[in-house]
Parts: sequence; C-alpha cells; structure tokens
Amino acid sequence: MNFSDSEIVASILEEAGFGSTKHIAEADMIFLNTCSIRDNAEQRVRKRLEFMKSLKKKNPQVVVGMLGCMAERLKTQLLEEENVLDLVAGPDSYRDLPRLMAEVESGTKAVNTLLSIDETYADISPVRYDSNGISAFISIMRGCENYCAYCVVPYVRGQERSRDAGSITAEAESLFRKGFREVTLLGQNVNSYQWISGGKTIRFAELLEKAALVNPLLRIRFATSHPKDLSDELLHTMARHKNICKAIHLPVQSGSTRMLDHMNRGYTREQYLDRIDAIRNILPGCAISTDIIAGFCDESEEDHQDTLSLMERVGFDYAFMFRYSERPDTLAAERYQDNVPPEVKERRLREIIDLQQKNSYQSNKEDAGKTFEVLIEGFSKRSDAFYSGRNSQNKVVVFPVTGNNPGEYVCVKISRFTSATLIGDAVNPDSL
Ligand code: SAH
Ligand code: SF4
Repeated sequence: MNFSDSEIVASILEEAGFGSTKHIAEADMIFLNTCSIRDNAEQRVRKRLEFMKSLKKKNPQVVVGMLGCMAERLKTQLLEEENVLDLVAGPDSYRDLPRLMAEVESGTKAVNTLLSIDETYADISPVRYDSNGISAFISIMRGCENYCAYCVVPYVRGQERSRDAGSITAEAESLFRKGFREVTLLGQNVNSYQWISGGKTIRFAELLEKAALVNPLLRIRFATSHPKDLSDELLHTMARHKNICKAIHLPVQSGSTRMLDHMNRGYTREQYLDRIDAIRNILPGCAISTDIIAGFCDESEEDHQDTLSLMERVGFDYAFMFRYSERPDTLAAERYQDNVPPEVKERRLREIIDLQQKNSYQSNKEDAGKTFEVLIEGFSKRSDAFYSGRNSQNKVVVFPVTGNNPGEYVCVKISRFTSATLIGDAVNPDSL
C-alpha cells in the first residue's frame, strides 16, 4: 500500500517539475513514507529521523518531510517532537505537496492532514520507480471502515472509497503496453469494492474479470480479501480465467471465535473454515496465505490453541505473523486491557511461527515433481546462471537460465525445494 502511495507521490512531484535521485546525499528534499500499523513500525521511523538529523547537520538547506499514516496519526505533534521535520502530509493530501513545499521554501513549516471522502488519485498515473518492469501494483480503493478492534487503519486512512473502474483497467492496459506482465489490485478489503457508473454497480468480481480480459498474458493478483466478504462468485470468476492467479490472501487473525468477536472481525472460526472449503472446492491447487495476531487482549491459552489447530487444519502456504501491539485511539486501546504478558505473547508467537514453518515446508514438499507456469522476473539473487520468477500460487521458482527473457512465461518442473523457494528446470509446455 505504501509502496503504491510513494509511486503516486513521485508522479505528483514529477508533474510539478521535481526530479528524483537514488543518492540521498544529492537530494534537496527527502520524504519518508510511514506506516503506523504496529508500534515497531513507528519506532523504525523515529530512528530514521535520527539519520535525517545527521544529514541536515551537513546540509541545513535540505527539506525533510513525513508522509503517510504516522503523519496522519500524529499531525502537528510531530513538528513539536521532531525538530528535523519541515513538512507533514497525510495520505489524502499528496496533491497539495507542491504548495506545501512552496510554504517550506518561504520559511514556514507546513502541515496538511485532512482526510478526504473521495480522493482516490484515480487520474494519476503512478511513476513506476524501483520496478522490475514486470510486476506492478494498482491501488483500487483507499481507506477502511471495518474498525477491527486492534487496527489503526480506519483512523489514519479514512473512509473506504473505490476508484473509477475505467481508470483501473486503463492503467492495467497501459502497464501491459509498457511490457508489464503482472498487476496486483490493492485495497484493505477488495471484496467490498464497488463503483457506480451509468446506474450500474461494478463489484469486485466484475472488476477482476475486466482486468483479466485486458490480455491473457497479463497476470492479475489482488490483496487483501476479508473473510466475511469472500463470495463464491469471486471464486468462480477466478476459476474461469487462467490469468487470475490462484493465490488468496485471507487474513484469519485468530482461530478462536471468542477472539474474532472481540476483534470485531465479523466472522466465526466455522465461517472462516467454510470459506477455506469453498476455495478448495472451487479452486483446487489455489494457495492460501494469512495474517495472524498472537496475544490480543484477553487471549487465553485455549484461544491460542484454537489458532494452532486452525493452522493445522488449513495448512496455510504462507503467513505473516505478529505479536499484538496496542495502537492509540483504536477500540481495543479504549475499551480493553493489553493484558497478555509480553513473555506469553512471545512464546505464543514463536509457537505460531514454528508451526507455520512446518506448514510452508510441507506445502513446498507437495510441489516437488509438479510442473508450473512461471513468469520470469529476472536473474536470481544468488547467481546470474539462474532465473527467478513466480508461479500462479505466488511461490518463488528458481531455475537455470533459458533462452527466454524476463517477462516471458516458461514451464518449470520442480525437482528440489527449501521452505522459501522451489527449484527446478524448464521443460516443454506440453508437460504442463
Ligand atoms: N486489511 C487487511 C490487513 C491490513 S493490516 C485485513 O483486514 O486483513 C495487515 C495486518 O497487520 C493485519 O492483518 C493484522 O494481522 C496486522 N495488524 C494490524 N493491526 C495490528 C496490531 N495492532 N498489532 C499487531 N498486528 C496488527
Ligand atoms: Fe484494519 Fe480490519 Fe480494515 Fe484490515 S479490515 S485495515 S485489519 S480495520
């Protein structure tokens, strides 16, 4: 999400006549795009600001700005706490950056943290910097109104709003023409996407289909799906189009219905498992990944065991796992006590990570001997003798370089694996 926002900012600034540099010492203005989701994300930003101070000592003219969720959360307080900052801009005020920068140039500090009900930056074609030229993100909506009890997103990114469907497919078409072969449609809860045009409502399944029809050689991915809104219709749409990747990120957060209710997630353990069964039935071979929080308020040992047993039952291919971090202003911070002791959170998180490592290894083991279509992204990190790409299930596949180029599809038969990577050799497409 933040990466996609940085591309929007780069585009707005380029339009206003600014250029970018890869060398921080050459920059006249430096923007930090920030995340507030967990406390350690904010702590990392504070450390980065220390580094900015050292840069500013060497060059007092350099302008330092903070963008994104931490800017939104702390607003003018940041200017008081962090002397090094000249500018603070929230996620809905990027169009205002040129004006804010002019304000800084005239000698005052500048702030805009107004949230909008309709800003989607739909007309802005993001600058794809730092890109492999093959895969790109397309933001399809902004904000969130689910108010999960632990989550700061609704407070720092504002109301949920969807972006014009036509502008999304136009962006996908333009990326395809430039040689991109994979786009990921991004939103906090893509299943609630809706765009009303000419009296007709376009929902996510239809948008996904439109994106898939841009070109069969353009792969489509999406994130994030909310379990409460994942419909069979969407799964059938995925099944109909080979180029819609067979990978679903479905954050469960906890395996305990009691905790899910406490978290205000809007589904039970059984309802989550029903969605998993629907994916397995409609999309055999589809990868499923998740997010899990360890040690949310009042989580008992039994609740934790429910999470482990759900993980055993589902066998996630991949997971992002976090210890609960209380965020100011959220429902949990206001109403519950962060009462799971740190050492207990730590131990539960460790057990969750250990189990997931076993599951990821098992998932890769099951792929040994199978053949996958792989989109080549470039040379592998370790050696120019190997290409690296991904299969439809979003697993990294490494294989000896062939006569193909990045951006082309090859079939790879898997012979070896680690818990993070599948390794194989290119084979004739007929063997797929
Ligand atoms: N919109 C997505 C998630 C966005 S945040 C969804 O609803 O699934 C990404 C992940 O960060 C969440 O899924 C959750 O697992 C984690 N997270 C959010 N707030 C957190 C907090 N306060 N402490 C720990 N993890 C948190
Ligand atoms: Fe946060 Fe819940 Fe919205 Fe995801 S759906 S961004 S976890 S409030």
